[in-house]
Amino acid sequence: MIITHMHMDHIGGLLVDAVKQRLRPDVRIHVTATEVAFWDTPDFAQTAMPAPVPDVLRATAQQFIAHYRGNLHIFDDEHEVAPGVVAKLTGGHTPGHCIVYVNSGGERLTFAGDALFPVAFDHPDWHNGFEHDPEESVHVRVRLLREAAASGELFVATHLPFPSVGRVAVEGDAFRWIAAFWDY
Ligand SMILES: [Zn+2]
Repeated sequence: MIITHMHMDHIGGLLVDAVKQRLRPDVRIHVTATEVAFWDTPDFAQTAMPAPVPDVLRATAQQFIAHYRGNLHIFDDEHEVAPGVVAKLTGGHTPGHCIVYVNSGGERLTFAGDALFPVAFDHPDWHNGFEHDPEESVHVRVRLLREAAASGELFVATHLPFPSVGRVAVEGDAFRWIAAFWDY
């Protein structure tokens, strides 16, 4: 398992009893060292979240670390989790946020986690209230979108609308999302 970052909508499912019971006791959970360290004393100074949210995020992340401490496989900058599957630290959204590259059959897919939200295609420089380092988030977002547009590779991000997998194009100073055809 690879955790891009420890916001509760990315780890909360792993704290549900019915899910915990179905996991192998030795399940490996890959996460960056920066992310684990960050949630010790998380900084919300540059975020814009409604009142109860920071406390809930902090408590959930700390509960997650306490429960899964023995399962965490911590890496610094980049780690090949399995052949062709590489997790890479980006920072920005959270200081320890990482993305995942999946190579298969000569193609590569980038799983961008929370590095971007749907609005990012029209306004890559707009901040999201959940970004702990808004300026760095913009740098990461623009870099990833430019790379994806240049390579034409498959791209997926957590909060993009269904099917959330597609390709990125450039149009002037904005980006465009070309959703994959959902062949069901
Ligand atoms: Zn997030």
